[in-house]
Parts: sequence; C-alpha cells; structure tokens
Amino acid sequence: MKYIFGPVFSRRLGFSLGVDLVPHKVCSMDCLYCEVGPTTEKTLERAEYVPLDGVKRELSYFLSSSPEIDYITFSGYGEPTLFSRLGELVSYLKSNYPSYRLALLTNSSLLERDDVLNDVKDIDVVLPSLDAASQEVFEKVNRPVKGLKVENIVRGIERLLKETGCKVWVETLFVKGINDSPREVERIGEIIHALSPHKWQLNTVARPPAYGVEGLTFEELHQIAEKVGYPATEIVARSKARRRKFPFSQLKEEVYGIVVRRPCPVEEIADALGVLTEEVERAVEELKKEGRVEEVIYGGEPYVKGISA
Ligand code: SF4
Repeated sequence: MKYIFGPVFSRRLGFSLGVDLVPHKVCSMDCLYCEVGPTTEKTLERAEYVPLDGVKRELSYFLSSSPEIDYITFSGYGEPTLFSRLGELVSYLKSNYPSYRLALLTNSSLLERDDVLNDVKDIDVVLPSLDAASQEVFEKVNRPVKGLKVENIVRGIERLLKETGCKVWVETLFVKGINDSPREVERIGEIIHALSPHKWQLNTVARPPAYGVEGLTFEELHQIAEKVGYPATEIVARSKARRRKFPFSQLKEEVYGIVVRRPCPVEEIADALGVLTEEVERAVEELKKEGRVEEVIYGGEPYVKGISA
C-alpha cells in the first residue's frame, strides 16, 4: 500500500487508518518538533500531489473487508489540506462507506480559505494545530512559509468552528523554551477561550524531532492546563490499546509502516498496534537483520526508526 497505513492506535483517535495525501515532505511549515523530519518543499500551493484514483483504489480494497476501525484519518507525511482533491475524497468516502468516521490532522494554515473549508466541512473530527499566539513565537516554533501569519491560523480555526458542523479538537504542542513562556501561554489561553473549541488538547515533543528540541514534563503541561483553565482541556497521554493478533509477517510490515513515518519506542509501537512489546521486539530484530530499521537514541530512550527503501 502506497497511500494508506495502519490501522494504528493513536492516542487521540483510537484505531485509525492513516491516509497520506502529500509526499514526504510537502508542508506549509517546517516545525521544530516535526516527527516526520525537515520540510523539503515548503508551500501553500494546493495540488493533486498523489493520484486521487490510486488513493481511492487502496481505500476501497482495504475497506472491502469491513475492518473495525475508529477513524479514517488524513495525516501522514505533510499537510493534508494541500491535496487539492480532498473534498472529492471526502465525498467518495461519505457516499460509499458512510459508517466510517473521518478525521483530519492539520496545521490550520489553509483553513481560512473558502475552497479548503468547503473540502473539510463533512469531516467528522478536525484536529487543527495552534502552537503560538504571537507572530514571533509562531515563526520560531512552526517556521511557516513566507507570508503566513498567526492571524491566518486563528481565523481558519474560527471559521471552521462557526461555518461547519465538524467537531474541532485544537492541539497545542509545547516545546521547552520556545512557546511555553508565561506570556505566550497566557495569550494562547485567551485565544482558546475566545475560540471555544470542542476540546483543547495539550501535547509535547514525544518522538525524535526534526530539530534538536525538547518537550515538557506531564507536570508542566498540567500546570499550563490549570493556568489557562479551559474546561474541555485534555492532556494527551498514552493510552492502552485493545489486544490484537497478527500473523508474524503482517506484524513486521505493520511495525515497519509505523516507524518509516515516525520513529517510535517499542512500547509505543506495541500500544499502537495493540500487541505485546515482546512481539514488537521480535519483529524489530527481524527488520534490523533485513536492514530496514535502525535504533536511535532520543532523550536517553531508544527509538526504532525506519529506513526508507
Ligand atoms: S508537524 Fe505537521 S505542520 Fe509541522 S512540519 Fe510536520 S507535517 Fe508540517
């Protein structure tokens, strides 16, 4: 499969089937914390970066067995709203597979545009990012394409909330020493209260980032949540997956499919797939022998990283 991956167990969406709508690494930002790696094409131009027919073909093949999943999620290697045929894909899934819920992970950079808003309006849950309140911090943490302002981000989320029926779970990812100053936290909090999203999710750097930055502790995130005092706040924490069983060869490919997109600790891969850590360890050993993964150390912890073919 070229455009879909998983299903993986994500902390926010349960079992979700990922769909990559842009190639590695096309994005309107180059975030310090990006777990996919540095952006190679920084753009705000929408295009059919991957063939819609190919994505539809893979989805229909996968969904033909009626798998039990919580969401089909547009995410992956870059910013999914840059895919110009997103609206057509949403309509296709809603018409042909109405029982599946759709989710979108977005950096919010294009949400204020009419065409994008129209493309996402039938998605069940949109998870837009808002990592800064001031332009200065926005540029430090998200390193956006030239001309993109923090006001564009806020206006996009505001339009999403006012003009669509999507559930909106805003995520703020805190990076130590970059967007966690008392002043910035206060201003982000003011924006969150004014926007009033269905959820405000606090996150931090948890996997090897594109650039050498560090995350906050759970206690620090908790203090931020207390200080802002927004009622629907959630600190994104690791969840335990349901138990699943894979044939070994399939498990190996599932593990590779995860770590080639983002480095993960063994325990997190096990959580993601709902299997035992020992099973993942066996798969990783085999993948190492095949030269398809390597171990990297981040924050003193070992991570498994996929080597692209
Ligand atoms: S974290 Fe998301 S928005 Fe930021 S560079 Fe990576 S893919 Fe782009």
